[in-house]
Amino acid sequence: MSEIKGQSGRKKRSRTRLAHAGRAPSQQFGFVNTPIYRGSTVLFPDTASLLANRGAYTYATKGTPTTRALEEAWADVSNAADAVAVPSGLAAITLALLTAVKAGDHLLATDSCYLPARMFCDTVLKRLGVETTYYDPRVGPDVARLMRPNTTAILTESPGSQTLEVQDVPAIAEIAHARGVCVILDNTWATPLFFPPHERGVDLAIEAGTKYLSGHSDLLLGLVSANDKWARRLRATYDAFAMCPGPEDVFLALRGMRTMELRLREAERAGLEMARWLASRDEVAHVIHPALESHPDHALWKRDFLGSTGLFSLVLKPVPPAAVAAMLDGLELFGLGYSWGGFESLALPFDCASYRTATQWAPGGPALRLSIGLEDTNDLKDDLDAGFARLRLAASR
Ligand SMILES: *Cc1c(COP(=O)(O)O)cnc(C)c1O
Repeated sequence: MSEIKGQSGRKKRSRTRLAHAGRAPSQQFGFVNTPIYRGSTVLFPDTASLLANRGAYTYATKGTPTTRALEEAWADVSNAADAVAVPSGLAAITLALLTAVKAGDHLLATDSCYLPARMFCDTVLKRLGVETTYYDPRVGPDVARLMRPNTTAILTESPGSQTLEVQDVPAIAEIAHARGVCVILDNTWATPLFFPPHERGVDLAIEAGTKYLSGHSDLLLGLVSANDKWARRLRATYDAFAMCPGPEDVFLALRGMRTMELRLREAERAGLEMARWLASRDEVAHVIHPALESHPDHALWKRDFLGSTGLFSLVLKPVPPAAVAAMLDGLELFGLGYSWGGFESLALPFDCASYRTATQWAPGGPALRLSIGLEDTNDLKDDLDAGFARLRLAASR
């Protein structure tokens, strides 16, 4: 659904597609945006149509013009065969996993995956008879050694949650595809704009639209896109669950899509500026940002990614927990809370030592994750500068 005038047939660049995909003004009385269609029932013109379930729309769990607009636009910007929209990023992960695995299967999941994804594997998938092995995100081609005859899917996330390891997704995909194994990627950090998932060998790509697609911390949404091989299976699984998002959230996601590239470019610029500034601070042991040369996977990031975003982590030099709390509690601009990718900056202390099993997290000091928002970076530096003063004072007591 995209009504770009003219017959040139040229595939438009991603920025143009973000502006035009998922809109059909001529079908909406000329109004620029696809409106919010609310509803359950769709009427059929006659008995024969009803019995044959014929029509663009048949029942709202299977899609409305609003949800279809977002799905088509997302498939377009992802260079995917199809995409489905679900009510949260976590729902996108669980749907992708349930598309790929069945009882008796073995799943490989990166140790750096989003923690609730791990909980899903350890509870629901386990109960359904799917065994999960967690692997070092830096496994690369050695993933071959972890494969069993019943391995059917590999969950990747790059860069990883909180610790931001970059995975060699193309190498993993090559090995997986030689055995018909499905490669799933949580691509939330980069979005398809900065990591084109299907061009890199991913079968099912997940995006928490809650983050950069929304950009405004005002909705929950998830998307799964599929290549040709997995599109039908994804759509069938989606239809079986009726995991359909609400129309207002979908409308807001379409609105967010129009400005997503602009916001991502700014997130990249501001994120790098803040990361470099933090790396120069005495209180900071090191900054974990894939686009910094100091990141151990920087070469891989440079090879595969087209940009970086505003979410990164840092490790402080050792100080007592009370000093970290003193720093965080007085922050004026950085909010303390979950999620990220909104216009407002956020800070989150984290410690993955207790839930990583294939790798060890021992960074040598307290760790923080920052999401850089759209505030003036000078104000953000002032805020953190005052925070570091509180940290030093509390640490010296
Ligand atoms: C936030 C997040 C999710 C989950 O998104 P929700 O919409 O909050 O459920 C999934 N993956 C990653 C990497 C995330 O950061």
